[in-house]
Amino acid sequence: MGKMAGRSDLKKIALERVERLLDFASSVFKRRPDLAHRYAELAWKIKTRYNLRLPRRFKRKFCRKCQSFWAPGETCRVRLRPSSPPHLAITCLKCGYVQRIPYKE
Ligand SMILES: [Zn+2]
Repeated sequence: MGKMAGRSDLKKIALERVERLLDFASSVFKRRPDLAHRYAELAWKIKTRYNLRLPRRFKRKFCRKCQSFWAPGETCRVRLRPSSPPHLAITCLKCGYVQRIPYKE
């Protein structure tokens, strides 16, 4: 075990940064939506650079097509689709992209 950070450590750190950026985005959205979108964009860049697989909870945070930060009712619309398989359909109000997230329970 050397002191150099391994690739998995780098990914872990990158994922933490993504999480923090999305937290910042949520907290500033009301006052500074432009800043929230900027954070979401940065988060997406980190995700792409490190080829991260984002945990489920991140999928509804921002648009994978235009990288807008998603605030339900403001920049996206969330619908529960009971059709099989049940899923959440999140529509980006900026670009119209629809993200489907399998819904459990
Ligand atoms: Zn979008």
